Amino acid sequence: MVSENKSDKSFEAGQDIKSLTLDELKAGLTERGEKPFRAVQIYEWMHKKCARDFDGMTNLSKELRAKLKESYIYTSLEAVKVQESAIDGTKKFLFGLADGNTVESVWMKYRHGNSVCISSQVGCRMGCRFCASTLDGLQRSLMPSEMLDQIYSITLLTGERVSNVVVMGTGEPLDNYDNLIKFIRMLTDGNGLNISQRNVTVSTCGIAPMMRRLADEHLQITLALSLHAATDAKRRRLMPIADRYSIAELMDACDYYFEATGRRITFEYSLVGGVNDTEEDAAELVRLAKPRCCHINLIPVNPIKERDYVQSDAARIHAFKDRLEKNRVNVTVRRELGRDIDGACGQLRMRYRESTV
Ligand code: SAH
Repeated sequence: MVSENKSDKSFEAGQDIKSLTLDELKAGLTERGEKPFRAVQIYEWMHKKCARDFDGMTNLSKELRAKLKESYIYTSLEAVKVQESAIDGTKKFLFGLADGNTVESVWMKYRHGNSVCISSQVGCRMGCRFCASTLDGLQRSLMPSEMLDQIYSITLLTGERVSNVVVMGTGEPLDNYDNLIKFIRMLTDGNGLNISQRNVTVSTCGIAPMMRRLADEHLQITLALSLHAATDAKRRRLMPIADRYSIAELMDACDYYFEATGRRITFEYSLVGGVNDTEEDAAELVRLAKPRCCHINLIPVNPIKERDYVQSDAARIHAFKDRLEKNRVNVTVRRELGRDIDGACGQLRMRYRESTV
């Protein structure tokens, strides 16, 4: 599947300065008659100190700043809405993009550090039936700068360092492949925030050939597969992508990823009441998980009002987890952070749009 990036026109090649790698920036500045060390300074202002604009780069001359403004677009997201959970301190940010679109990101505090969940696209074209992000389809993919700046803006707004990044917000990251890879390389670069690749997770609905391509990048990131059902028939009821790639193909792609990177795979499984939460479903899941080095993340489905899916009751969730554990499958039930602030994928953006139209 080739990603169509409708944003490319507004960011003409090389103009979006925050999307340039250090080498690309060096080349661009040298062409403009500047010394390469300037590129290092500017890169650090953008990616280490999270400067909001060229004027914030105080050790550059006025002339150079003016020159930069002429040559480049500087991406900084504006927080148009911030919600804080009264239950657990989770914060949800709605950011405005330069073209008037909005994306959402979530900031979560864990014992091991702060985690940010970012969006990779405006909307989504994957059509998963329980997900709010996909209700209006895909508007466009995000540039590396727009993915990075969700983290930079949150770092500034919270005043705290981000240690973990999960690409689990709106959008299908592997449907925006090139920008995603550039984003990960810049995020984990020593000249930028220098976040460990091991602390980055990319979640996919399961585009098998792109999972293999990701494996070939040999990054040390975690790959999470949104499985949600352990048989093709059931998965097709929940996710249109299941018509394209079978579970067998996905398991082969996961095995390939593990062989190439040595990284344990995460399977996400949203428990939907009466759909995929029986003991039989759990047994099918054991069949897939047992032979693999994997971890299962059970997520009680977050009901969205546009669909009539309901959460499994507590006893069902418990029995499901129990069945996996008895078979020595690694499993956790995801804590529901931010439930009171439209925490599930795409919910805040939809609510905001409903309230402003
Ligand atoms: N497109 C990627 C990443 C975004 S969704 C993917 O499909 O993995 C992140 C995770 O949240 C996915 O596992 C997705 O299936 C799940 N999700 C989306 N809406 C949900 C909801 N209403 N309740 C529970 N999980 C949901």
